[in-house]
Amino acid sequence: MTVDLPDDLLSSLHDLYTHLHAHPELSMQEQETAVLIEERMRGLGYDVFRCGGTGVVATLANGDGPVVGFRADTDGLPVAEDTGLEYSSTARGTLPDGTDVPVMHACGHDTHITAAIGAATLLAERRDAWAGTVVFLFQPGEETAAGAAAMVADGLWDRAPRPEVVYGQHVWPGLTGTIDITTGPAMSFSDSFLVTVRGRGGHGSRPEDTIDPVLLACHMVVRLQSLISREVPPQQAAVITVATFHAGLKENIIPASAQFTINMRNLDADVRDKLLRRLREVLDAEAAGSGAPAPDVADLSSFPRLVNDPDETGRVVGVLRGVLGKDAVREAPAVLGSEDFGALPDAIGVPGVYWFFGGMPAELVDSGEPVPTNHSPHFAPVMEPTLSTGVRAAYEAIMARVGTGS
Ligand SMILES: [Zn+2]
Ligand SMILES: [Zn+2]
Repeated sequence: MTVDLPDDLLSSLHDLYTHLHAHPELSMQEQETAVLIEERMRGLGYDVFRCGGTGVVATLANGDGPVVGFRADTDGLPVAEDTGLEYSSTARGTLPDGTDVPVMHACGHDTHITAAIGAATLLAERRDAWAGTVVFLFQPGEETAAGAAAMVADGLWDRAPRPEVVYGQHVWPGLTGTIDITTGPAMSFSDSFLVTVRGRGGHGSRPEDTIDPVLLACHMVVRLQSLISREVPPQQAAVITVATFHAGLKENIIPASAQFTINMRNLDADVRDKLLRRLREVLDAEAAGSGAPAPDVADLSSFPRLVNDPDETGRVVGVLRGVLGKDAVREAPAVLGSEDFGALPDAIGVPGVYWFFGGMPAELVDSGEPVPTNHSPHFAPVMEPTLSTGVRAAYEAIMARVGTGS
């Protein structure tokens, strides 16, 4: 059943990949990417419709049999590419707040689009080898957690055939040609907030007349870390990161306010509920302790947890080991990265399976040097065997789940 990829398909996928890589678009602005995907999928004989703005759904109905979904995310990031690749991006984009930024496929979503189109091509060309329906979900806006929700809100599952399972995959800094897959909870909840701390400004020489929001916000940041170390069971994975902190304009002016962001990740729903509650209690109590009003806490983003269904994951592991070799497919522990993939199967209560495929050459992985990760300006997956592994993993997982052909 396993398939070698024809040379002409591979070279057309390489052209597609270098084009996508050179032309990334920001989250929920993937206009040209969506048009390109629509044209390619229509050309292969798929029924295509837009969903959630720049999302594209492409369906191939091929007789009676299971319905299988496959998701590929499509957005780039505001990163200035510094890979030195000849097909580097020089694209620019505009963030929702109006800021002009460089854009790069720094998370490798261009490999996801390419692999999905490669698998879609094989499925279209080999219709006599399988029976059922495949639904490709080209999802915008993964990086902002907006895209899957936008597709669901746009009636995705009323308009597309409902699959029995949804698959997805992501390139990462592992060894090219290999797959990592996790059974059960695989990627974390992620909740982010913007905290605005209000004090009372004044002269640096007269702190007694002020409420210093910088000192207060510092107490908040330190105190938040004690939630992780003292209030989460040590067996549970959880992390809080404060990665932005802004206040003040001059060294002798105590400002009136300070702002910082919180990113909170965990794998357990009870831990998440407790931390969400305690986070607000700690912020309010610290403010009260300084005589300041309760801070404003604005939601920035919220990613669902990603859970890989055990039965479906076991099936995928078996299939991929058969195709790529036993050693090339590792069962890996959960990561605290986040994804909105889970929102697609979760919306209709069907299982999902999501795996990582490596993008880095052995000489880099084995060098002992730091390997550039997703979101780095240096993140540069090698084309092969990365792309062919992504194509084969997608195709074989789908083929093993649909019905057998005539
Ligand atoms: Zn990313
Ligand atoms: Zn990504």
